[in-house]
Amino acid sequence: MISFGTGIRLDKIKKLVEYQNLYNREQEIRKKYQDEEKKMDKLLADNATLVARKNDLEMIIYATQKKLEEEQQKKLQLEQRLKELDENKDKVKITRQIKTWEKEMETLQQDLNMIIHQIDYETHKQTDTMEELNQVNAKMLENDAKIKALRETIAAIEAKHKDELTYILETQKNIASEFDVSVIEYFILLLRKTKGQAIVSVLDGDTCSGCYTILPTVIQGEIGPNLPEEEIELQQCPHCFRFLYYPQWLD
Ligand SMILES: [Zn+2]
Repeated sequence: MISFGTGIRLDKIKKLVEYQNLYNREQEIRKKYQDEEKKMDKLLADNATLVARKNDLEMIIYATQKKLEEEQQKKLQLEQRLKELDENKDKVKITRQIKTWEKEMETLQQDLNMIIHQIDYETHKQTDTMEELNQVNAKMLENDAKIKALRETIAAIEAKHKDELTYILETQKNIASEFDVSVIEYFILLLRKTKGQAIVSVLDGDTCSGCYTILPTVIQGEIGPNLPEEEIELQQCPHCFRFLYYPQWLD
């Protein structure tokens, strides 16, 4: 527990409360676009993943296209050979030649069937890949539009609160200059640690409203509505270390 409570009088206590109010207001403003920034970061990360997927899909489409062209070529060759073989049918006379002819015809037909199936399979695959690519492109456009809107919102919030933020920072600087550096630094650390509740009111005359602990009698005696103003001094909760003020002191 820090013992510099002594010496910090009512006017300074009021300044600390003001400093805290400004701190909380600043957090409130920053939080407005922190949420937007978080959303934007998520969308940007999402788009980076989509770009990688888009590149993969385009490579797959290119490779499949080449494969399909080769297969179409093979199909044409097989059809041509089948046509030629069929035209030669009448020239085949002896049984042995007929058997060979039939065998060759069968093999060619099987090869042709296989290549037709292969083309069919690749064509379906290509359609699916293109469909996915369209979806990826659409999703990226959708994200881009959202990112643009978020950027505009952030810029608008910043512009709207620019003067207020400047006022907050300047006033805080002025208040800080009235305290010992060690006091104000400690107070700022406490503000961060307590999420803007470094100085809190005393509840029901005996309880710290930061941690809801009943204060020791000695501190209770130093805090109250009837204390003469010149006797008021900054007190600290021995349990949570928050600074304390009596609500009516601020009136
Ligand atoms: Zn406390």
